[in-house]
Amino acid sequence: MHRGGKSYSRGGKSHARPPGLKGKEIGLYYRNLARQRKNNATTDEPKIRLGCDVSVPPGILRRVTEYLEQFKAGRESKEQRLDAKFKEQFRHLLSVNFETFIDETKEQNKDLKLRNPGLDEHLQKQQKERMESGDVRARYEERMKLPTMAYAADIIEAVEQNQVVLIVGSTGCGKTTQVPQLLLDDCIEKGIGSSCRIVCTQPRRISAISVAERVSYERVESLGQSVGYQIRLESRKPRERASITYCTTGVLLQQLQSDPLMHSASVLLLDEIHERSVETDVLMALLKLILPHRPALKVILMSATVREQDFCDYFDNCRMFRIEGVMYPVKMLYLEDVLTLTGYQFDSRQNRRRHDQPEHRAMIEPYLRRQRGSYDNKVLDQLRLPESEGCEDIDFVADLVYYICSSQSSGAILVFMPGYDKISKLHNTLTNPRSALGQRWRDQLIVYPLHSLLPSVEQQSVFRRAPQGKRKVIISTIIAETSVTIDDVVYVINTGRTKVTSYDIETNIQALEECWVTLANTQQRKGRAGRVQPGICYNLFSRAREAQMAEVPTPEILRCKLESIVLSLKLLHIDDPYAFFPTMIDAPDQKAVSNAVNLLKRIEALDNVGQLTPLGLHLAKLPIDPQMGKMILISALFRCLDPITSAAAALSFKSPFYTPMGQERRVDEVKRKLSRQMRSDHLMVHNTICAYRESCEAHRYRDFCYSNFISQRTIQQLERMKQQFADLLCNYKFLTSSDCLHDSSNINSEKIPLLRAIIGGGLYPNMAHLCKSRQIKNRVRAIHNMSTDDGRRCNFHPSSVNSGERGFDSNYFVYFQRQKSTALYLLDATMVFPMALIIFGDGVESGAVDKTPYISVAQTYYFKCDPETASVVIDLRKNLALLLLEKALNPAQITESSDDNKLIQAIEVLLSIDERMGDDDDDEVMDSDEIDDI
Ligand code: ADP
Ligand code: MG
Repeated sequence: MHRGGKSYSRGGKSHARPPGLKGKEIGLYYRNLARQRKNNATTDEPKIRLGCDVSVPPGILRRVTEYLEQFKAGRESKEQRLDAKFKEQFRHLLSVNFETFIDETKEQNKDLKLRNPGLDEHLQKQQKERMESGDVRARYEERMKLPTMAYAADIIEAVEQNQVVLIVGSTGCGKTTQVPQLLLDDCIEKGIGSSCRIVCTQPRRISAISVAERVSYERVESLGQSVGYQIRLESRKPRERASITYCTTGVLLQQLQSDPLMHSASVLLLDEIHERSVETDVLMALLKLILPHRPALKVILMSATVREQDFCDYFDNCRMFRIEGVMYPVKMLYLEDVLTLTGYQFDSRQNRRRHDQPEHRAMIEPYLRRQRGSYDNKVLDQLRLPESEGCEDIDFVADLVYYICSSQSSGAILVFMPGYDKISKLHNTLTNPRSALGQRWRDQLIVYPLHSLLPSVEQQSVFRRAPQGKRKVIISTIIAETSVTIDDVVYVINTGRTKVTSYDIETNIQALEECWVTLANTQQRKGRAGRVQPGICYNLFSRAREAQMAEVPTPEILRCKLESIVLSLKLLHIDDPYAFFPTMIDAPDQKAVSNAVNLLKRIEALDNVGQLTPLGLHLAKLPIDPQMGKMILISALFRCLDPITSAAAALSFKSPFYTPMGQERRVDEVKRKLSRQMRSDHLMVHNTICAYRESCEAHRYRDFCYSNFISQRTIQQLERMKQQFADLLCNYKFLTSSDCLHDSSNINSEKIPLLRAIIGGGLYPNMAHLCKSRQIKNRVRAIHNMSTDDGRRCNFHPSSVNSGERGFDSNYFVYFQRQKSTALYLLDATMVFPMALIIFGDGVESGAVDKTPYISVAQTYYFKCDPETASVVIDLRKNLALLLLEKALNPAQITESSDDNKLIQAIEVLLSIDERMGDDDDDEVMDSDEIDDI
């Protein structure tokens, strides 16, 4: 069956069912009918079904044409001042393959002065003097206690003799802080310090900063002398030579674009490779290409003890060191032990529904039978409840914190939570306790949330020791597992939960889901408790659960979409993703690669032979999903930056709303109110941000956030991201101001039809078409007969503002995320009008079926359309493409009085009639039987 509007060939009659059918037979009749239609669709030519009429009245069409002519006239007369540098860069990208690119950089760097003898001597002398200072010596003595230092001489020798060395050691043994210093000091002592430039990558911003600070402290220096860091939009670079730079893996990947052979480094340390992030995996594959061309570059891979042999093999059986750490014994307790200790009782009245209930029962029952007698029956009964494990019940986790406070000697508590939401919930519970027990402990706790999205200043305080009489509680994501070491932790609470992206290649659906950690994660977490003294690890899952856990996590590259990577590889002149990915340590499925390439083609980041377009070049440079990148780029050109960046920020981070247990309905109501009937989750977020700003001005933001279930932290983070987008777009010259709220960037920010269209243009081709919605008596939710553009049935997720609605002015939607649980749900959706899809979509064609003229989008949606309108719109699209191309080649804002602005006006006129006209293609009558049958 073809997707899209009403069937032109089918008419209305096909719904008449044979008389005399009763009850179940009716359902069966329609099911068979549906199957038959589906079969026809796969065997026959797809039948074109025409949707609503998008013809534009002649008067309005004339206005559009006039604007269009003015635009074209302006372009002819205009002297084309193209940004020469950009053009050259772009041509170079397309014309040069990887080998040539490498040869060019070798040529450029052949006169590079490696050594500066004067400096060498000075550094050597300085080093000797330094070691005479008491402070320096004392901190050096401290360093000497770390296990890594016992291998100092061996490591130095191995690095001298091998290009690649792998160092494996348990977390905290001193890899990250010590190995770079060892190598630097060795060079300085040997009198070759000036040639030493060490770069060490870190998986996260926070670890780059905290490690750099730690190492400067150890060297009794301030940041920016021999040690510095570099993360996106923030850096304290060290001196040019004889230095150590801690940078994020992302920053290094970006630097490869201009320095592919890493001439700016003499030693590269790739840290935390066991995490198997996409970035370190990609970097390892790139290293294999780079190393033969840079024999002088030394590479040190560093990993915790997780599948380290894989890395050794990948680098041709490279030299490997195992650093045996000293760790104090850590006692492992499981949920059954914790419940025995605390006597906590779950409130079964809350009746939290979990869809994995049967799975839980199958796991736990046999275990409970075996444990009878070993544990109190009350405890075993609690284990039977699915909500007992993990962190479903935040009060339980808080209760355990209080238990530790009251029964255990001093020492910080580190709680591992899956993500931001739960961290924030526990943080609230501990800092604004409602229970008497909580109130008793509140003032004795210092609680730190630790999450990669928190601002870096806030994060630094985590490392400070708690003052006398207070106990530090750190609530963290997986980030504190290996990459951030907090020294004074003695107690670890491991909820066993984490957030993981998953990607289903067949359905092309990516989702971020909470799931159980692996055995490797639990080992690392346990280790965090034994750093200064014997510790305890409280696991909030049973031994039965542990027995089912996977060994190690699946590498990220195998469970994510590849669009962004394909795009950034292009910037490195690695043109053929199909050839590159198979060289990785774990190669993603070719289908995942082709899904990515196809999407990039559809959004015109790649042309049809797979070459980067000028637009694609910009998207590759933006630190955001390419679809959203396109959306904010267009919003800069069309000057409606504020609302569109709100949408983009919320899509790449999260919605500002939180949902307390059992309050789902009320949150939905709040959202619906804030959506102001716009039928858009994305515009609703912007309305929310605006309302929040007003509440701040009126000094009543607390009240506003509280009564509307809004997380102030999240909103602040969204504002920071918006500002960051504005900064970047201003850097690339698409904006004249780096202020997201500047008038010049927001002239059109109140024009809802335009905003809708730009969101449509950005999220395209993620489209859905609503055939019919119906509200069944006594049911609050409307039932939607809707399908996505690949023909899958879907519905709005209950948390979408569109979910309870019916009577939409248009039946077309764009979405960013869809999720498959019991059914396929659109997590977020914005209603768009057909004209927006026609203007911003791809594969737009005109034609006729049975003498009725149409215009179609992506051979998916067909709209009745008179030939005059079709020809004007197709002409407009051509000019829009030209404008985008020119702007990509020569980034500049479009001014109000320019001829370029005429095109925007033409688009606005077209969109405005759309908004008034509404959509009339839902006149297809549907039987309630048929709906229930779906
Ligand atoms: P590894 O990389 O092997 O996990 P690190 O080099 O990160 O180990 O840490 C070595 C030691 O340095 C830790 O055990 C800890 O004692 C200390 N350390 C590291 N970072 C900090 C910090 N920010 N504050 C205080 N001590 C730190
Ligand atoms: Mg480390």
